[in-house]
Amino acid sequence: MKRVGVLSLQGDFAAHGAALERAGAAPVYVRERSQLGEIDGLILPGGESTTMLKLLRHENLFDELAEFGRRKPVFGTCAGAILMATDVTNPPQESLGLMDIAVERNAYGRQLDSRVVELDPAPEFEMRTAPGKLEAVFIRAPIIRRAGNGAQVLAEYAGDPVLIEQGRHLVATFHPELTTDARVHCLFLGKL
Ligand code: GLN
Repeated sequence: MKRVGVLSLQGDFAAHGAALERAGAAPVYVRERSQLGEIDGLILPGGESTTMLKLLRHENLFDELAEFGRRKPVFGTCAGAILMATDVTNPPQESLGLMDIAVERNAYGRQLDSRVVELDPAPEFEMRTAPGKLEAVFIRAPIIRRAGNGAQVLAEYAGDPVLIEQGRHLVATFHPELTTDARVHCLFLGKL
């Protein structure tokens, strides 16, 4: 069975653990550097990216994660997607730079900061998982303002990409761990 790490310093790491189990993988709750050697891929959960950054620095995990991402697949959701970007705005902050994307934090504004929507995923996504609409939970989500060459958009919402694959990595600005549809986690497992 594939062993998949879930960064468990802050945020909804427990929901990702449960989603991985539904998708048929064994979660490893990563809190320290030594655990990175035990896993085939890593999920950076949703939560608060500024707090996660502080904790990553505190645990001396920042450089280790950047290095891990140069070798193994990483999947970032919401705050995790912000951590993976090369450019972050609103306000600018440091990030791991694992994916060539520019993200604007909290970009849907106050009034529309949380919602559940049904997406029509790209045919490529349905081909590699299973057909059907994709329920997406957005919570104070970022918007991906730019995606570099080689980015494959697997789902969009209101004209903006919300699920993108680039090389070995994957990001979602929504929370697939909060629904019972395991397809996004299965897609990630297929990349390990
Ligand atoms: N608003 C958070 C941030 O900017 C992300 C929210 C989330 O992960 N649900 O870090």
